Amino acid sequence: MKTGGKRAPRSSSPSFARRTGAAAKAKKGMVFDIQHYAVHDGPGIRTLVFFKGCPLACVWCANPESRRPEREVRQILARCRACLRCAEACSSNAIAVVDGRPRLDRTFCAACARFECVAACPEHALIVTGTEWPLDDLIARIAKDIDFYRNSGGGVTFSGGEPFAQADFLRAALVECKRLGIQTAVETCGQAAPADILAAEPLVDLFLFDMKIVDPVRHCELTGIDNARILGNLRLLAGRAPGKIVLRLPVVPGLTDGEKNLEAIAALAAELRITRLEFCPYHPLGRAKYGEAGLPDPVEPPQPLPADIARIAAFFEARGIGCSSA
Ligand code: SF4
Ligand code: SF4
Repeated sequence: MKTGGKRAPRSSSPSFARRTGAAAKAKKGMVFDIQHYAVHDGPGIRTLVFFKGCPLACVWCANPESRRPEREVRQILARCRACLRCAEACSSNAIAVVDGRPRLDRTFCAACARFECVAACPEHALIVTGTEWPLDDLIARIAKDIDFYRNSGGGVTFSGGEPFAQADFLRAALVECKRLGIQTAVETCGQAAPADILAAEPLVDLFLFDMKIVDPVRHCELTGIDNARILGNLRLLAGRAPGKIVLRLPVVPGLTDGEKNLEAIAALAAELRITRLEFCPYHPLGRAKYGEAGLPDPVEPPQPLPADIARIAAFFEARGIGCSSA
């Protein structure tokens, strides 16, 4: 019989737990949407994979259902006929009846994996956002369009939410895509661990790197966090591979398109030898989703739509930065 002395059991070692935790996280990821045959967010024909969970809370966000990392219920009020079957079905008592209508208390839902309310609703007024994808299944789904990628110069784009919020899963997916010869792009807000960005860089052909506001105070006001880490990561990445970076500017009239911000972005691009910029013009289509996700209404752009993209494009083009619209 072997006598092993007092060595701790293997599974209780912190580094072992960290490794096994990372391995488990690499095998499954939370995704809120997958779109095929997209012709934006990178070259050619692409599959877009939207990861759920984002560290920012931009006031103009068009996908508020992507913010929380976990699966969640969305409530489409226009479909609700007040039958109250959902309130009866919920075993967590998370649905109160107020003026004859259901009112969901999401503090109870975070830990609920049953979604009895969704199954009970005859009107499909309650839907689940977020699907946990095993890595192999996701790769099979991406790979089914491999001929389209090859014929069009396309590939896969991991977006979100924030893909680096599930860094282990993202890296595992990138490794598999590269093994299959699939071109890869990552759309990121840049708020990630620098080590995760550096580890992913050799596996990524194109970074669509959000550049919203350069001023840190204003960035904090409009996104919920300052941008020190974001700018640090951009510098880090540009130090390695400036040619892989396209800056992405969400153009929100009166918030991101002021002269001072544009000047600061142009100066940063010049300093980091980044020569490409894409605009994402603000659209109000995401507004209804705030109520569905139980979030307060978003901020209205303080200036009228549409944004003057031609003016902004001319501004950057005059500084040697090639522009396109996403
Ligand atoms: S998600 Fe779960 S806790 Fe929330 S209302 Fe539905 S059944 Fe109840
Ligand atoms: S079950 Fe559906 S239709 Fe009935 S009250 Fe609930 S959300 Fe409305």
